[in-house]
Amino acid sequence: MSVRTRADLEQLPPYVAGRTVPGSIKLASNEVSEGPLPSAVTAINQAATEVHRYPDMGVSALTEALAAHYDVAPEQIAVGCGSVALCEQLVQATCTAEDEVIFPWRSFEAYPIITQVVGARQVKVPLTGEHALDLEAMLAAITTATRLVFVCTPNNPTGTLVREAELNAFLDRVPGDVLVVLDEAYFEFVDDPEAPDGVEITRVRDNVVSMRTFSKAYGLAGLRAGYAIAPAKVAEALRKVTIPFSVNALAQTAAIASLQAQDELRRRCADVIAERGRVHRELVAMGYELPETQANFVWLPLGERTTAMNEHCLENRVVVRAFVGEGARVTIGQTHENDAFLAAAKTFGG
Ligand SMILES: *Cc1c(COP(=O)(O)O)cnc(C)c1O
Repeated sequence: MSVRTRADLEQLPPYVAGRTVPGSIKLASNEVSEGPLPSAVTAINQAATEVHRYPDMGVSALTEALAAHYDVAPEQIAVGCGSVALCEQLVQATCTAEDEVIFPWRSFEAYPIITQVVGARQVKVPLTGEHALDLEAMLAAITTATRLVFVCTPNNPTGTLVREAELNAFLDRVPGDVLVVLDEAYFEFVDDPEAPDGVEITRVRDNVVSMRTFSKAYGLAGLRAGYAIAPAKVAEALRKVTIPFSVNALAQTAAIASLQAQDELRRRCADVIAERGRVHRELVAMGYELPETQANFVWLPLGERTTAMNEHCLENRVVVRAFVGEGARVTIGQTHENDAFLAAAKTFGG
């Protein structure tokens, strides 16, 4: 007799991570190529000799630092083992098998997985023809069974932004007992003056949570730290379903040091934003059609040509993230890395 695992897991799509190919430039996982902020590296080195101790289970120092940084109460914060863990915890904290989670599609590939693992029903709402979130259709999808709506902005993998006015008009019409999750993993790269600030929205609405991470702009993807700023009741529910000690000691220390290095962060984001503009302009000049992006990546909706583009980039030692039949997501790296990708894009042809 063999052990019995859940039959429904057979249908679960695997999470496809960006590939690492030795000797190639990796532009597949939206990491910043420059590395962690220098202040964080110093803090990690100093903390290395303390890792025989369990981490602070309540993540209190980092929570205090985040509370001061955003001027919110510590009770409104939950820290997780990456914001993807918090996304799963939100589903756990709000849903049982009959309940529904709405999210845009294509979007962050963890949404369907975490929803199914927890055991809730998923409702995927297609993007608009311009590769943006279709908030009208998402509103129309809300039923009495809806507990959670993910709004990914900028959207991964298309880079499109939901503007503030549009978001507020949407939030005005969402029932008050439905929690709206603003997944702002790329917030630090946004420079559109009409962009919403999810944390500000949490100050005036009690059914909104803002999710951010140290993985992307802060360059700590390998350490795993993300956070939610939420109404105190939601943050408390998130903390209740946490796996004890899942935010490790180095992650806590590095996140605090990173938060204190805002000048380093700003310089880095300015570089990424400048390179993003250059890469986008050059791709358009080559004849590619691609949406505006507010994240640290561009989206090439190549449809059936995606696989060929992916292979062409690999031959040129550049790893991008291909979504077969849909498009390729290409992370903005350092100048020489972007040049290598642009050279490959040029020979492939828009
Ligand atoms: C990368 C990403 C995250 C989470 O990253 P963590 O490393 O788990 O903090 C969350 N949402 C989106 C849309 C992302 O792209």
